[in-house]
Amino acid sequence: MWRMSFAAVTAALIGSALVAQAQQPAPAQAPASAPVAAPPPPPTATTKVTDNVYIFRYVGHQSMFIVTPAGVIATDPISERRPAKPYIDAIQAVTKAPIKYVIYSHSHFDHIAGGQPFKDLGAKFIAQRNAKERIQELKPADVVVPDQVVDGKSVISLGGETLELLYVGKNHSDSTLVMRLPKEKIIFTVDWIPIQAVQFRGMADTYVPDIEDGLKKVIAMDWQTLIPGHPGPGGKQTGTKDDATNQLAYLQDLSAAVKKEVDAGKSYDDAVKDISLPKYAAWPSYKNFLPMNIERYYDFWNRGI
Ligand SMILES: [Zn+2]
Repeated sequence: MWRMSFAAVTAALIGSALVAQAQQPAPAQAPASAPVAAPPPPPTATTKVTDNVYIFRYVGHQSMFIVTPAGVIATDPISERRPAKPYIDAIQAVTKAPIKYVIYSHSHFDHIAGGQPFKDLGAKFIAQRNAKERIQELKPADVVVPDQVVDGKSVISLGGETLELLYVGKNHSDSTLVMRLPKEKIIFTVDWIPIQAVQFRGMADTYVPDIEDGLKKVIAMDWQTLIPGHPGPGGKQTGTKDDATNQLAYLQDLSAAVKKEVDAGKSYDDAVKDISLPKYAAWPSYKNFLPMNIERYYDFWNRGI
Protein backbone atom coordinates (compact mmCIF):
# COMPACT_ATOMS: atom_id res chain seq x y z
CA MET A 1 0.00 0.00 0.00
CA TRP A 2 2.89 2.27 0.81
CA ARG A 3 4.52 1.59 -2.49
CA MET A 4 1.30 2.43 -4.34
CA SER A 5 0.67 5.60 -2.34
CA PHE A 6 4.18 6.78 -2.88
CA ALA A 7 4.09 6.08 -6.59
CA ALA A 8 1.02 8.29 -6.70
CA VAL A 9 2.68 10.94 -4.56
CA THR A 10 5.80 10.87 -6.70
CA ALA A 11 3.70 11.23 -9.82
CA ALA A 12 1.88 14.17 -8.23
CA LEU A 13 5.16 15.77 -7.22
CA ILE A 14 6.64 15.32 -10.67
CA GLY A 15 3.42 16.86 -11.97
CA SER A 16 3.75 19.88 -9.68
CA ALA A 17 7.44 20.24 -10.56
CA LEU A 18 6.48 20.43 -14.22
CA VAL A 19 3.79 22.99 -13.48
CA ALA A 20 6.24 24.97 -11.35
CA GLN A 21 8.73 24.94 -14.20
CA ALA A 22 6.07 26.02 -16.64
CA GLN A 23 5.13 28.90 -14.35
CA GLN A 24 8.64 30.31 -14.15
CA PRO A 25 9.18 33.39 -16.30
CA ALA A 26 10.36 32.42 -19.73
CA PRO A 27 14.07 33.08 -20.33
CA ALA A 28 14.85 35.96 -22.68
CA GLN A 29 15.88 33.65 -25.50
CA ALA A 30 12.67 31.58 -25.30
CA PRO A 31 10.55 31.59 -28.43
CA ALA A 32 7.42 33.74 -28.38
CA SER A 33 5.33 30.56 -28.44
CA ALA A 34 6.54 29.44 -24.96
CA PRO A 35 3.65 27.81 -23.05
CA VAL A 36 1.59 30.13 -20.86
CA ALA A 37 1.03 29.14 -17.21
CA ALA A 38 -2.34 27.51 -16.51
CA PRO A 39 -4.81 29.88 -14.79
CA PRO A 40 -5.28 29.28 -11.05
CA PRO A 41 -8.30 27.14 -10.10
CA PRO A 42 -11.53 29.07 -9.47
CA PRO A 43 -12.08 30.11 -5.81
CA THR A 44 -15.09 27.83 -5.36
CA ALA A 45 -16.14 24.47 -6.76
CA THR A 46 -18.87 21.92 -6.14
CA THR A 47 -17.97 18.25 -6.54
CA LYS A 48 -20.50 15.44 -6.61
CA VAL A 49 -19.27 12.50 -4.52
CA THR A 50 -22.39 10.32 -4.79
CA ASP A 51 -25.96 10.93 -6.04
CA ASN A 52 -26.74 13.16 -3.07
CA VAL A 53 -23.43 13.91 -1.33
CA TYR A 54 -21.37 16.91 -2.42
CA ILE A 55 -18.15 18.70 -1.53
CA PHE A 56 -18.16 22.49 -1.60
CA ARG A 57 -14.62 23.86 -1.85
CA TYR A 58 -13.97 27.50 -0.97
CA VAL A 59 -10.33 28.37 -1.83
CA GLY A 60 -8.38 26.04 0.51
CA HIS A 61 -11.26 24.83 2.72
CA GLN A 62 -13.94 22.28 1.98
CA SER A 63 -17.27 21.15 3.44
CA MET A 64 -19.67 18.30 2.78
CA PHE A 65 -23.37 18.76 2.10
CA ILE A 66 -26.05 16.10 1.80
CA VAL A 67 -29.19 16.62 -0.28
CA THR A 68 -32.46 14.86 0.60
CA PRO A 69 -36.04 15.45 -0.61
CA ALA A 70 -36.85 16.80 2.87
CA GLY A 71 -33.96 19.25 3.01
CA VAL A 72 -30.21 19.71 3.10
CA ILE A 73 -27.71 18.84 5.79
CA ALA A 74 -24.80 21.26 5.41
CA THR A 75 -21.54 21.27 7.37
CA ASP A 76 -18.97 23.98 8.21
CA PRO A 77 -19.82 27.41 6.70
CA ILE A 78 -16.07 27.98 5.86
CA SER A 79 -16.80 31.68 5.32
CA GLU A 80 -14.42 33.50 7.62
CA ARG A 81 -13.86 37.07 6.32
CA ARG A 82 -15.73 36.29 3.10
CA PRO A 83 -19.39 35.94 2.09
CA ALA A 84 -21.28 32.68 2.69
CA LYS A 85 -23.34 33.35 -0.43
CA PRO A 86 -21.20 31.21 -2.79
CA TYR A 87 -21.79 28.19 -0.51
CA ILE A 88 -25.54 28.82 -0.29
CA ASP A 89 -25.69 29.40 -4.06
CA ALA A 90 -23.83 26.12 -4.62
CA ILE A 91 -26.42 24.25 -2.55
CA GLN A 92 -29.34 26.01 -4.22
CA ALA A 93 -27.90 25.21 -7.65
CA VAL A 94 -28.43 21.54 -6.79
CA THR A 95 -31.74 21.68 -4.90
CA LYS A 96 -34.48 24.06 -3.84
CA ALA A 97 -35.04 22.02 -0.67
CA PRO A 98 -34.46 24.05 2.51
CA ILE A 99 -31.13 23.93 4.37
CA LYS A 100 -32.22 22.25 7.59
CA TYR A 101 -28.93 21.81 9.42
CA VAL A 102 -25.41 23.20 9.66
CA ILE A 103 -23.08 20.90 11.56
CA TYR A 104 -19.72 22.12 12.82
CA SER A 105 -16.77 19.77 12.35
CA HIS A 106 -14.97 21.24 15.39
CA SER A 107 -14.56 24.60 17.12
CA HIS A 108 -11.92 26.27 14.91
CA PHE A 109 -13.12 29.54 13.40
CA ASP A 110 -11.49 29.14 10.00
CA HIS A 111 -14.02 26.33 9.42
CA ILE A 112 -17.11 27.51 11.29
CA ALA A 113 -17.21 31.29 10.83
CA GLY A 114 -19.72 33.01 8.59
CA GLY A 115 -22.85 30.92 9.21
CA GLN A 116 -25.34 33.74 9.82
CA PRO A 117 -26.88 33.62 6.30
CA PHE A 118 -27.61 29.90 6.87
CA LYS A 119 -29.21 30.80 10.20
CA ASP A 120 -31.32 33.46 8.48
CA LEU A 121 -32.64 30.73 6.17
CA GLY A 122 -33.77 28.75 9.22
CA ALA A 123 -30.97 26.18 9.56
CA LYS A 124 -30.42 24.56 12.94
CA PHE A 125 -26.77 24.61 14.09
CA ILE A 126 -25.29 21.53 15.76
CA ALA A 127 -21.84 21.01 17.29
CA GLN A 128 -20.02 18.88 19.81
CA ARG A 129 -20.58 20.06 23.38
CA ASN A 130 -17.02 21.41 23.86
CA ALA A 131 -17.27 23.44 20.65
CA LYS A 132 -20.29 25.32 21.98
CA GLU A 133 -18.46 25.98 25.26
CA ARG A 134 -15.45 27.39 23.42
CA ILE A 135 -17.60 29.58 21.18
CA GLN A 136 -19.53 30.94 24.16
CA GLU A 137 -16.29 31.64 25.98
CA LEU A 138 -14.54 33.49 23.13
CA LYS A 139 -17.68 35.04 21.57
CA PRO A 140 -16.31 35.46 18.02
CA ALA A 141 -18.54 37.97 16.25
CA ASP A 142 -18.93 35.95 13.08
CA VAL A 143 -19.61 32.48 14.51
CA VAL A 144 -23.21 31.36 15.06
CA VAL A 145 -23.63 29.76 18.50
CA PRO A 146 -24.86 26.16 18.09
CA ASP A 147 -28.56 25.55 18.83
CA GLN A 148 -27.95 21.97 19.85
CA VAL A 149 -24.99 20.00 21.14
CA VAL A 150 -24.06 16.35 20.76
CA ASP A 151 -21.66 14.04 22.54
CA GLY A 152 -20.86 10.35 22.09
CA LYS A 153 -23.03 9.17 19.22
CA SER A 154 -26.02 10.94 17.66
CA VAL A 155 -27.93 10.29 14.47
CA ILE A 156 -29.61 12.76 12.16
CA SER A 157 -32.34 11.29 9.99
CA LEU A 158 -33.72 13.44 7.20
CA GLY A 159 -35.55 12.52 4.00
CA GLY A 160 -34.45 8.88 4.13
CA GLU A 161 -30.82 9.78 4.80
CA THR A 162 -28.93 8.85 7.95
CA LEU A 163 -25.92 10.79 9.21
CA GLU A 164 -24.07 9.69 12.32
CA LEU A 165 -22.32 12.31 14.45
CA LEU A 166 -19.58 10.52 16.36
CA TYR A 167 -17.27 11.87 19.03
CA VAL A 168 -14.15 9.70 19.34
CA GLY A 169 -12.33 11.80 21.95
CA LYS A 170 -9.71 14.51 21.77
CA ASN A 171 -7.47 14.77 18.73
CA HIS A 172 -6.83 17.95 16.69
CA SER A 173 -9.28 19.69 19.06
CA ASP A 174 -11.43 18.59 21.97
CA SER A 175 -14.58 19.01 19.86
CA THR A 176 -13.97 17.15 16.61
CA LEU A 177 -16.86 15.15 15.17
CA VAL A 178 -16.60 12.28 12.74
CA MET A 179 -19.67 12.52 10.49
CA ARG A 180 -20.39 9.13 8.95
CA LEU A 181 -22.84 8.23 6.21
CA PRO A 182 -23.29 4.48 6.75
CA LYS A 183 -25.09 3.85 3.45
CA GLU A 184 -22.52 5.66 1.31
CA LYS A 185 -19.56 4.60 3.50
CA ILE A 186 -18.31 8.19 3.62
CA ILE A 187 -16.82 10.09 6.56
CA PHE A 188 -16.30 13.84 6.85
CA THR A 189 -13.86 14.86 9.57
CA VAL A 190 -11.61 17.88 9.60
CA ASP A 191 -7.97 18.78 10.19
CA TRP A 192 -6.62 15.62 11.78
CA ILE A 193 -6.63 13.04 8.96
CA PRO A 194 -5.06 14.98 6.10
CA ILE A 195 -4.35 13.50 2.69
CA GLN A 196 -0.61 12.91 2.32
CA ALA A 197 0.42 15.52 4.86
CA VAL A 198 2.03 15.73 8.28
CA GLN A 199 0.10 17.58 10.99
CA PHE A 200 -0.35 21.34 10.58
CA ARG A 201 2.49 23.45 11.98
CA GLY A 202 3.04 22.93 15.74
CA MET A 203 -0.18 20.94 16.24
CA ALA A 204 -1.74 23.78 18.27
CA ASP A 205 -4.76 22.57 20.25
CA THR A 206 -3.86 18.92 19.46
CA TYR A 207 -4.03 16.32 22.19
CA VAL A 208 -1.07 13.94 22.23
CA PRO A 209 -1.25 10.95 22.38
CA ASP A 210 -5.09 10.92 22.30
CA ILE A 211 -5.04 11.67 18.58
CA GLU A 212 -3.49 8.23 17.98
CA ASP A 213 -6.32 6.49 19.86
CA GLY A 214 -8.86 8.47 17.84
CA LEU A 215 -7.24 7.37 14.60
CA LYS A 216 -7.48 3.73 15.69
CA LYS A 217 -11.20 4.19 16.37
CA VAL A 218 -11.79 5.78 12.97
CA ILE A 219 -9.79 3.07 11.18
CA ALA A 220 -11.99 0.44 12.89
CA MET A 221 -15.18 2.06 11.51
CA ASP A 222 -16.89 0.92 8.31
CA TRP A 223 -16.20 3.48 5.57
CA GLN A 224 -14.37 3.83 2.28
CA THR A 225 -14.21 7.54 1.41
CA LEU A 226 -12.75 10.31 3.55
CA ILE A 227 -13.73 13.92 2.94
CA PRO A 228 -11.21 16.11 4.79
CA GLY A 229 -11.49 19.85 5.52
CA HIS A 230 -8.74 20.78 3.06
CA PRO A 231 -7.83 19.30 -0.33
CA GLY A 232 -4.60 17.30 -0.48
CA PRO A 233 -1.66 17.56 -2.88
CA GLY A 234 -2.72 18.24 -6.44
CA GLY A 235 -6.15 19.40 -5.23
CA LYS A 236 -7.23 15.87 -4.28
CA GLN A 237 -10.60 16.23 -2.53
CA THR A 238 -11.16 12.78 -1.04
CA GLY A 239 -9.02 10.15 0.62
CA THR A 240 -9.32 6.51 1.63
CA LYS A 241 -8.69 4.43 4.71
CA ASP A 242 -5.04 4.28 3.62
CA ASP A 243 -4.77 7.98 4.48
CA ALA A 244 -5.94 7.26 8.02
CA THR A 245 -3.63 4.26 8.46
CA ASN A 246 -0.72 6.24 7.00
CA GLN A 247 -1.41 9.13 9.38
CA LEU A 248 -1.47 6.79 12.37
CA ALA A 249 1.79 5.18 11.22
CA TYR A 250 3.34 8.62 10.80
CA LEU A 251 2.38 9.74 14.30
CA GLN A 252 3.57 6.48 15.84
CA ASP A 253 6.90 6.68 13.98
CA LEU A 254 7.27 10.34 14.94
CA SER A 255 6.45 9.63 18.57
CA ALA A 256 8.96 6.76 18.79
CA ALA A 257 11.70 8.81 17.14
CA VAL A 258 11.16 11.78 19.46
CA LYS A 259 10.99 9.57 22.56
CA LYS A 260 14.39 8.14 21.62
CA GLU A 261 15.87 11.64 21.47
CA VAL A 262 14.32 12.68 24.78
CA ASP A 263 15.48 9.46 26.45
CA ALA A 264 19.01 10.20 25.20
CA GLY A 265 18.89 13.67 26.79
CA LYS A 266 18.88 15.50 23.45
CA SER A 267 17.61 19.08 23.09
CA TYR A 268 14.78 20.34 20.84
CA ASP A 269 17.38 21.43 18.30
CA ASP A 270 19.16 18.07 18.38
CA ALA A 271 15.87 16.25 17.93
CA VAL A 272 14.93 18.39 14.94
CA LYS A 273 18.40 17.86 13.44
CA ASP A 274 18.54 14.12 14.12
CA ILE A 275 15.07 12.98 13.08
CA SER A 276 14.14 12.17 9.54
CA LEU A 277 11.23 9.96 8.54
CA PRO A 278 11.95 9.13 4.89
CA LYS A 279 8.73 7.11 4.50
CA TYR A 280 6.82 10.40 4.65
CA ALA A 281 9.33 12.72 2.95
CA ALA A 282 7.28 12.83 -0.26
CA TRP A 283 4.38 14.56 1.53
CA PRO A 284 4.62 18.22 0.49
CA SER A 285 4.22 19.58 4.05
CA TYR A 286 6.94 17.29 5.47
CA LYS A 287 9.83 19.70 5.07
CA ASN A 288 8.16 22.76 6.61
CA PHE A 289 6.07 21.21 9.37
CA LEU A 290 8.04 18.13 10.52
CA PRO A 291 10.28 20.24 12.81
CA MET A 292 7.20 21.75 14.49
CA ASN A 293 5.53 18.32 14.79
CA ILE A 294 8.76 17.09 16.43
CA GLU A 295 8.58 19.92 18.97
CA ARG A 296 5.00 19.02 19.83
CA TYR A 297 5.94 15.41 20.58
CA TYR A 298 9.10 16.56 22.36
CA ASP A 299 6.91 18.48 24.81
CA PHE A 300 4.83 15.38 25.36
CA TRP A 301 7.78 13.08 26.07
CA ASN A 302 9.89 15.64 27.92
CA ARG A 303 7.28 17.50 29.96
CA GLY A 304 4.23 15.30 29.81
CA ILE A 305 2.14 17.99 28.15
ZN1 LIG B 1 -8.83 22.96 13.08
